[in-house]
Amino acid sequence: MTSHKKRILTGDRPTGPLHLGHYVGTLKNRVRLQDEYDCFFIIADLHTLTTAANYEKTKGLNDRARGLVLDYLSVGIDPSKSVIYQQSKVPEVTYLSTIFSNLVTVPRADRLPTLKDVMNDLHIDAPSVGLLNYPILQAADILMVKANLVPVGKDQQSHIEITREIARDFNKGFKEIFPIPDALIGEGGTLIGTDGQAKMSKSIGNCIYLSDDEETVNKKVKGMYTDPTRIKPTDPGHIEGNPVFIYHDAFNDDKDEVADLKDRYIKGQVGDVEVKTKLALALNKFLDPIRARRAKYEGNTDLLNQIIFEGSEKARTEASKTLEEVLTVMGIK
Ligand code: ATP
Ligand code: MG
Repeated sequence: MTSHKKRILTGDRPTGPLHLGHYVGTLKNRVRLQDEYDCFFIIADLHTLTTAANYEKTKGLNDRARGLVLDYLSVGIDPSKSVIYQQSKVPEVTYLSTIFSNLVTVPRADRLPTLKDVMNDLHIDAPSVGLLNYPILQAADILMVKANLVPVGKDQQSHIEITREIARDFNKGFKEIFPIPDALIGEGGTLIGTDGQAKMSKSIGNCIYLSDDEETVNKKVKGMYTDPTRIKPTDPGHIEGNPVFIYHDAFNDDKDEVADLKDRYIKGQVGDVEVKTKLALALNKFLDPIRARRAKYEGNTDLLNQIIFEGSEKARTEASKTLEEVLTVMGIK
């Protein structure tokens, strides 16, 4: 890996398969970034403990980590260019997190909007110390590799802000060793769900997964929400906010076909069946190369484990270097 490149750290919690929303929102961008930057893609399994601290929930983590790697590989994330690693296999990060936790006050951690969101969504009355510490552990992930850029969704911007504060405070209190990372907010926007809800999200169950086969995609598209005001194919239809056309725009590379369908839809000259049949074809065409790459690795647990192991060793090398440096400037090395 060449060291003159700027560093990126981003990733996912291994909570389930990735979907078209993830593709539009982050994955597409990551594939592009890995040529320009030194990329670290974290499988943040320790970050799932904040909402899953029992064996029923943790026993599947390695499986889900491999599933995530498979999703990464399928879209073209390349372990020979980028580091894919599992957070729990880099224990140095928890040491850094412990040190950083002393630079953040409880009210500061408590003020994060994401904390309130998680507590509301999951009906948590009082946050665990682990949940309060979530952004501090994330700061340790980021600063451990001295990342310059952190691609995140808008929702995570506050976590990058607290990371910047930690880096600044550490630099000021000890020695300037950390770059101040910038958030890189994705331009992909949020992909609407198949049910017309604002966000495709696995907990809502309105997703088309990268791992869905042709049959499944056909079925999901057939059941998609369209324009509720349109009863018959001869009724003039609405394009805006209509998930069928949003997906056509995002995934159908035949722009003339999309323009023609839209034109006829507005005029009431095309039925949902044709629009959806063509969408299913376009989506399957988009997913085919993703499926082909997946097929090369699927079921090869050893290879997936090896990718995680090698990536985690590389991440550990960086983490150990940073930790040494941290302890040295603290005078406790
Ligand atoms: P859950 O329902 O468990 O919250 P999810 O499907 O919403 O899962 P997240 O794990 O919350 O997925 O998503 C992680 C990141 O992926 C988000 O911060 C965002 O950047 C991106 N992402 C997820 N869903 C979408 C979407 N529908 N459109 C664009 N980006 C998305
Ligand atoms: Mg979510």
